[in-house]
Amino acid sequence: MSSALTNLTIGDCRSLIEKREVTALSLAEEYYAHIENQDARIGAFLTLSKERALQQADRTDRMAVEGQLLPPLAGVPVAIKDVMSTRGVRTTAGSKSLATYIPAYDCTAVARLEAAGAVILGKTNCDEFAMGSSNENSAFGPVRNPRDRSRVPGGSSGGSAAAVAADMAVAALGSDTGGSIRQPASFCGVIGLMPTYGRVSRYGLIAFASSLDHIGPLTKTVKDAATILKTIAGRDPLDSTSADVRVPDYVAELEQPLGALKLGVAQEYFGEGLDDEVRHAVESAIDRLKSLGCEIVPLSLPHTAYAIPTYYIIATAEAASNLARYDGARYSFRAAGVKSLSEMYRRSRDQGFGAEVKRRIMLGTYALSAGYYEAYYLKAQKVRTLLARDFQEAFRKVDAIVTPTSPTAAFRLGEKSDDPLAMYLADIYTVTADLAGIPGISVPCGETQQKLPIGFQILGKHFDESTVLRIAHAYEQASQTAS
Ligand code: GLN
Repeated sequence: MSSALTNLTIGDCRSLIEKREVTALSLAEEYYAHIENQDARIGAFLTLSKERALQQADRTDRMAVEGQLLPPLAGVPVAIKDVMSTRGVRTTAGSKSLATYIPAYDCTAVARLEAAGAVILGKTNCDEFAMGSSNENSAFGPVRNPRDRSRVPGGSSGGSAAAVAADMAVAALGSDTGGSIRQPASFCGVIGLMPTYGRVSRYGLIAFASSLDHIGPLTKTVKDAATILKTIAGRDPLDSTSADVRVPDYVAELEQPLGALKLGVAQEYFGEGLDDEVRHAVESAIDRLKSLGCEIVPLSLPHTAYAIPTYYIIATAEAASNLARYDGARYSFRAAGVKSLSEMYRRSRDQGFGAEVKRRIMLGTYALSAGYYEAYYLKAQKVRTLLARDFQEAFRKVDAIVTPTSPTAAFRLGEKSDDPLAMYLADIYTVTADLAGIPGISVPCGETQQKLPIGFQILGKHFDESTVLRIAHAYEQASQTAS
């Protein structure tokens, strides 16, 4: 199991380093030793960036020795999902097509973490191009759930969730297009926050579906999620979709009393397919929030039933277009022994992409093709607007909405891999927030009889991560005192 030194929060790291009880260098080394011990069993990391990490730790230690004011994440060991570009460090997106790709620049979110003092330990395993809900679509093998190694950690940010859950990183970055931060967080028993669309720059994020992609933190505590969000949020001139909206001090706002917040509970999120143990745990979480003074408001989000087909048309259409760039001509995998340019494209893509990615490219290309565009893509865009309007209506009446994160706890490796539809249904409660562009967080709320973590989700208004975090924090504090 973990030594005390790897079971830390951001605040713990900071105070240890500030008081000079531990150096950033020894802390990084401690985490690497733990990764070396544990990760053969879990498979969370694809690449370790030791040289870069130790140089960064050394910079922090020199600042500490000189008595300089330390930045907010000084010496905090973090892990980065391998869909975010890291200068000089291999970035694969879980795909054979990028197995040897070494970016020349950093993703803005990574650069901001590092500028705040964080130590980037390495890159975490994920479903290929973030397409999946179990991490089984990685070209580099699955990740195992640290709570039960016969089960999946969720996906697509499975490596990031497992790394935090198994104390191999204090925090991690993940990406969420249809649930990929929140669902693995719930399967592994950690916090996962998807910010509002546009809140965090995606510069340097390997694109899956550009109108849905988000970067956000996976952490052990809500406060740590607030700290990371504060660090990475805000306008970035390198990403024209990043919003020029004031970034509040999420950490300071956590402590504001909840007051009489109105929490919506939508019947559509508690229907068929929801596992009984998950339902009970989420209902108890709602009861606890009620006892903290929140008013529970039953409501309806009537277009929810269309979310999965809508998502799987829009996401695949955008993916088909985004993935056109992996043609073997420049940085992606190139097939050997080809005789013509078109054969190079064909064979490189055939050999470089895995089955799920090919399925998505075909689905997306079909949905965009002449003759079908109106029936599928255009229709999906219209339904997306209806789904977003459901939330707009609801947020006229309530401050936030509480739902399960996933219909079940972690499933077994292989359980759904031959049934894409069953796998897609695992995203039923998460894709809606991506489609509407609103923020959402998954917070642990107990476990099944088999000791598998259960998570519940809090959804908020556009750019109102503060309220979402505040509710999550109040719940977390109350459950710690209760247990
Ligand atoms: N599971 C969903 C999918 O496969 C979501 C993935 C994601 O959020 N990146 O598309």
